[in-house]
Amino acid sequence: MTKLDDLPAAVIGGGPVGLAAAAHLMARGMPVRVYEAGEKVAPNLLEWGHVRFFSPWKYSVDPAARSLLARHGKEVPDDNSLPTGADLVSEYLAPLASTPEMAAVIETGARVLAVSRQGMDKVVSKDRSTRPFVLQIAKAAGTSRVLARAVIDASGTWSQPNPLAAHGLPVEGEIEFADRIHYGIPDVLGRHRAVYARRKTLVVGAGHSAGGVILDLVSLAEAVPGTAVLWATRSTNLTRVFGGGLEDQLPARGELGASLKELVESGRVPLVAGIAITAVREDRGILVDGDTAEGARSLGPIDRVVVATGQRPNLDLTRELRLELDPWLECPRALGPLIDPNLHSCGSVPPHGHRELSHPEHGFYTVGIKSYGRAPTFLLLTGYEQVRSVAAAIAGDLVAADEVRLALPETGVCSTRPITIGELASEDCCSGPAPANKDACCIAETEAKTVGEIGCGCRETAWAS
Ligand SMILES: Cc1cc2nc3c(=O)[nH]c(=O)nc-3n(C[C@H](O)[C@H](O)[C@H](O)COP(=O)(O)OP(=O)(O)OC[C@H]3O[C@@H](n4cnc5c(N)ncnc54)[C@H](O)[C@@H]3O)c2cc1C
Repeated sequence: MTKLDDLPAAVIGGGPVGLAAAAHLMARGMPVRVYEAGEKVAPNLLEWGHVRFFSPWKYSVDPAARSLLARHGKEVPDDNSLPTGADLVSEYLAPLASTPEMAAVIETGARVLAVSRQGMDKVVSKDRSTRPFVLQIAKAAGTSRVLARAVIDASGTWSQPNPLAAHGLPVEGEIEFADRIHYGIPDVLGRHRAVYARRKTLVVGAGHSAGGVILDLVSLAEAVPGTAVLWATRSTNLTRVFGGGLEDQLPARGELGASLKELVESGRVPLVAGIAITAVREDRGILVDGDTAEGARSLGPIDRVVVATGQRPNLDLTRELRLELDPWLECPRALGPLIDPNLHSCGSVPPHGHRELSHPEHGFYTVGIKSYGRAPTFLLLTGYEQVRSVAAAIAGDLVAADEVRLALPETGVCSTRPITIGELASEDCCSGPAPANKDACCIAETEAKTVGEIGCGCRETAWAS
C-alpha cells in the first residue's frame, strides 16, 4: 500500500484560488499536482473576461503567487487600478502558470470526475484516514487514476448556473427556449453586442452580476435605439446589490449599486421585484410568467432572457467522500452560519481557515468560491487566506494554520433587516451605515443587537489602505 507521505497533494481546479493553493504548498516544499479541466488555466475568468473587478489589483493577487512570480522577475500590478477578468488571466494567472515550478505540476485538459479513498468506499471506517485519496481523471487520451495524500477542491461553481425559477428547478419552457436564454454575464458591449442590440432583454437576478448586465444594456440602449432592458428579481430585498454607496470600501462595487438604484428610481429600468418565475412561453416574442404577492403576472413580450441567479456547487465529484455540508448552502457546514444570506447582508465574514473548510473526510478541503456553496459575496482575498491556512495544515504546521487573519473590504451595508422596494429612497441601514474601516461582521452584529446594542462596527480591521 502506498504511504501517504510519499504522495503529492492534489488541487482540483486551476483558477485563481487553486493556483494560489499550489503556490502556498510549493512555498512549504510540499509536492503538489493541479488538475484543470480547461485547455488553459482559469477558463472561468475568461468567460466573463470583459467584466471589471470591484477589487483593485492590490487585493486580487495571492502573496505566495506574487513571490513566485517575483523570483522569475515577473511583476504583477499592485495598485488601485481595477483589472478585468481577462486582465487577471493575461497579467497574473497565465504568467504564474508558465513559471517552471507551476508548469511542472499543472495538468490542463484534466477533468476530475470523482474522488474516493484507495480500496474503500464511503461506508468503510477502519483506517480510513491512513488511505490515500484516489482521483479519477478524464483526459483526451482516456480516463486514469492518481493517488494523493490530501485533496483541495478549488473547482468553483461557474459551470453550474442556477435556473430561472425561484424553486431552483427548470421552469416549463426553460429548456425549450434555451436558445433565447443566456446563463451568466453576456458581453453585451463586445462580442455579444449584435445579439442584444435592437432587442428587448429581461435580466433575472438580484446580484452584482445582474446589475452589471443591466448597466451594460442601458449603455447599449443609449447607443442603439430599439434596445431595451427590463429587470426581474425573486426577492424584494435589494440590499446587497444596491449596496453601501460611498460607504463601500470597494468604490466600484458601491458605484454599481448606486447607479442601479438611480436607474430604477428614475424609471429608466423597469423593475419587477418579488416575482417567482413559473414558465417561459412564446406569443409574438417570449413571455415570462410568474407569481407575485398581487397574483400572476406575465412579463414581455421580450426577445431574450439573461439569467444571473447565481451558481451552485457540483457535489457529484465528492459523492464517495464523507462531507459535512450546510443543508441549504451546500458549503462546509461550519462556514454556513457565517455567510448565510438569510441571516445577514454583509460582504464580510469572520476569519476562517482549515478548520472551517475541512470535513469528516480527513485531508479533504473545499476552498475558493466553491467553499461558499450557493452563497454570494465570495472575494479572492478570502480564498487566498483560506489556502494559506489549508496548505499550512497539510504541511502539519498547525500554529500557522490556526492563525487566520482575514480582513475584507466592507460593503457599507450590514443589516439583518432587508431594504425593501418601498424603502428605496431610505439610507437607513443598521442604525446608520457601517463606519469606514470597521469590520461590521454580521454574526457579532446580530449578537450585539440581541442585547440591545447597535451592531455595526463591532471589530477593528487592518483593512485601511
Ligand atoms: C462576474 C464576477 C465578478 C467578480 N468580481 C470579483 C471581484 O471584484 N473581487 C473578488 O475578489 N472576487 C470577485 N469575484 C468572485 C471570485 O473571485 C471569482 O469567482 C473567482 O473566479 C473564484 O476563484 P476560484 O478559483 O474559487 O474559482 P474559479 O475561478 O471558478 O476556478 C475554478 C477552476 O476549476 C476548474 N474546474 C471545475 N471543475 C473541475 C473539475 N472537475 N476538474 C478539474 N478542474 C475543474 C475550472 O475550469 C476553473 O478553472 C467575481 C466573480 C464573478 C463571477
